[in-house]
Amino acid sequence: MIVVGAGVVGCSVAFQLARMGARNVVVLERETLPGTGSTSRANGGIRAQFTTEVNVRMSLLSMEILDALEEEIGQPSAYRKAGYLFLTDSPEKLAAMERAVEFQRSSGVDVEVLDAAQVRRRVPWAAGESLAGGTFGARDGFIDPGRLCGFFASEAAHLGVSFLHGHEVTGAAEKAGEWILSTANGRSFAAPVVVNAAGAWSARLGRAFGVDVPVEPVRRHLFLTGPIHDMPPVIPMTIDADTGVLVRREGERVLVAWSNADERPGFDTSCDPEFVLRFADALEARFPAVAAAGIDQRRSWAGLYEVTPDHHAILGEVPGRSGLILATGFSGHGVMHAPAAGRCVAELILRGRSESVDVAALSLGRFARGALIHEAMVL
Ligand SMILES: Cc1cc2nc3c(=O)[nH]c(=O)nc-3n(C[C@H](O)[C@H](O)[C@H](O)COP(=O)(O)OP(=O)(O)OC[C@H]3O[C@@H](n4cnc5c(N)ncnc54)[C@H](O)[C@@H]3O)c2cc1C
Repeated sequence: MIVVGAGVVGCSVAFQLARMGARNVVVLERETLPGTGSTSRANGGIRAQFTTEVNVRMSLLSMEILDALEEEIGQPSAYRKAGYLFLTDSPEKLAAMERAVEFQRSSGVDVEVLDAAQVRRRVPWAAGESLAGGTFGARDGFIDPGRLCGFFASEAAHLGVSFLHGHEVTGAAEKAGEWILSTANGRSFAAPVVVNAAGAWSARLGRAFGVDVPVEPVRRHLFLTGPIHDMPPVIPMTIDADTGVLVRREGERVLVAWSNADERPGFDTSCDPEFVLRFADALEARFPAVAAAGIDQRRSWAGLYEVTPDHHAILGEVPGRSGLILATGFSGHGVMHAPAAGRCVAELILRGRSESVDVAALSLGRFARGALIHEAMVL
């Protein structure tokens, strides 16, 4: 079996395959280390506050896997349950959030609905004369993306998986029930099963197989403020649902993100210093203490989301291409869903179907069928 891409998703697939007893697993990675793609740029948030069944199931399975691996991964914990808190000034939005909570609770997610006073108690540094309320998921929080990816890679290697770095897959052909992959450095590899876990580059890799993989790279910025001493050392991921501005602690600083709906697809990962002007007013209005600390441009960066038309991953075998599996398109949720994705893909390969989560809704075929899935809580 060959996994292409040693990001958190490919490493999780390799780890789960090895744990489930697979032998002859090879990971081909273009770069010289695992996890240097989008994984190294991520914010690391994990939440089960979603509005689609499959997103909730993937999050809950990831959380279960992370809890089970806690001792093995070791300290400091790679998964910190600081919570996700969504807040709003709008009574209509709060009503929609309450409906989402009903659905989440029915799927086994522990979420609280907060009134304005409860929001203020949890995040007193957030301004809100006209706050309507919010929601809080205590099991949500943060994952350290590099640590998790490194853990999956080293455990997989320990169990016999071969990691070949500096191997960019550039060609693929089908021959006698096997895929023959060729790499830019002139080598070739054969296997009956290949997993495309190439993240933002998976459409390009898909073309080598003659498959249209609808995943586009979209730049996403993260900014660090200067040091802030008058806020608690741990705060939830706090999202202003009215503007999309979100903040969390990163050491003595605060990390700030905002998603630009107009960002054009492309591979540019330069950090635009002017970008912050687009959401400066919203940051100042909701999180004045954070805005007052100022943005430290030298400690800010951008990376790529791997985005599908419906902001859900593509997981499963490509119709008509036996043994070619897609594990990509996580659209901003790839770190949090990597533990679950690894398990689901390994089950699919070794047992013929994903048993832990029904991932039928995430098939590539949904795009041709027009069976897109709508997630209302995209960040
Ligand atoms: C700013 C930012 C914030 C984010 N915040 C969060 C968050 O809070 N929570 C969350 O869950 N997710 C978040 N994400 C998304 C998350 O980073 C991605 O979904 C996740 O890292 C995807 O992992 P991956 O393994 O699929 O991709 P990658 O980590 O990009 O790995 C793909 C790998 O494939 C390799 N590759 C590509 N083409 C080839 C080829 N032809 N041959 C060989 N190797 C190849 C690449 O070199 C790369 O190492 C964020 C992303 C960004 C940019």
